[in-house]
Amino acid sequence: MKLLKNALGACLLPLAFAASVQANDHWDSVEVKAIPVSEGIYMLMGEGGNIGVSIGEDGTFAIDDQYAQMSAKISAAIKELSGDVPKFLVNTHWHGDHAGGNENFGKQGAIIVAHENVRDSLKVEKSIKLFNMHKPPSPKEALPVVTFQREMSLHLNGDDIRLVHVANAHTDGDAIVHFTGANVIHAGDTFFNGFYPFIDVDSGGGIAGMIAACDVVLALANDNTKIMPGHGPLANKADLLAFRNMLAQAQANIQALIDGGKTEAEVVAAKPLAKLDKEWGDGFLPSDVWVKIVYSGMIK
Ligand SMILES: [Zn+2]
Repeated sequence: MKLLKNALGACLLPLAFAASVQANDHWDSVEVKAIPVSEGIYMLMGEGGNIGVSIGEDGTFAIDDQYAQMSAKISAAIKELSGDVPKFLVNTHWHGDHAGGNENFGKQGAIIVAHENVRDSLKVEKSIKLFNMHKPPSPKEALPVVTFQREMSLHLNGDDIRLVHVANAHTDGDAIVHFTGANVIHAGDTFFNGFYPFIDVDSGGGIAGMIAACDVVLALANDNTKIMPGHGPLANKADLLAFRNMLAQAQANIQALIDGGKTEAEVVAAKPLAKLDKEWGDGFLPSDVWVKIVYSGMIK
C-alpha cells in the first residue's frame, strides 16, 4: 500500500498546484519507469497518467504524454527501449497530466490522434476547480490533427489497434485503446487502479458513464488481458471488475440518499461509502471529496 500512496501522492501534487509553480528540482527528481506489458509494449510511469508505448517495425506509437516538463525524460525512456519520437500519439482525454506534452511531441512530428471533444477542449481555456488548475488555449502544435467520433483503428507494429470512445465517463472525450492482437488495453482515466477516481463533471463526466466504460473494457478483456489504468499499477480484468463493482456500489448508495431527498451536505454527512473507504479511499481522493464529485454528477 505504501508504494501506491507514493505513486498517488506524486500524481495529485501537480494537479493541485499549477505545473508552472513547481520548482525545477521537483521535475529533476522524477524518474520514468518502463514496465514491460507485452512484446514491444510498455507502460511508462513518471508523473501524471500512465503512458502506453508500442515500439516496432513501423515506429513508435504512444498513448498519452504526461506533463510538458516530463517530455525530455519520456523521450529518453523511449529511446532506451529502442524507440523513437512517436509517429502517432493518442490522447485518452484532454487533462494536462495526460496531454501536457502534446506541444513538445507535436513539434517533433508526432501525429496526435484523439476523440474530437479532446481537440475542442484543448483549443479553449479550461479549468478544474477542485485542483485549482487552469489551462490556457493550447497552441496549434498541441492539437490532435486526426479526430474521431465513435471509433477508429491504427494498424501498426503488427497489431490492429482500436480506439473506442466511451461517452461521458471521466470526461466527454475519453478513448480506450485496445491492442487486439497483443491483448492489451489502455483504459485512460476511466480506470484508477485501487482508489477512488477523479471524475471531471464540468467536462461532462459522470459515474454512470464510468461504469459503462468499465463494462466496455470488461467485455473486450479475458483473464489474460493486461490493462493499463490511467493511474495506479498495471492491472488485469479482476482488478477492473473490483473497481467497477466499487463504482456501482457507490452509485447505488448515493442514489438511495438522493431519492430520499437528501442535500449534498446530508449525503456527505451520511458517509455512504464507509464500507468502501478502507480499500479505496486511502490514496488519491478523500472519501468526502469523492462523494461530492459523484453527487454533483448524479444530480445534473
Ligand atoms: Zn484525467
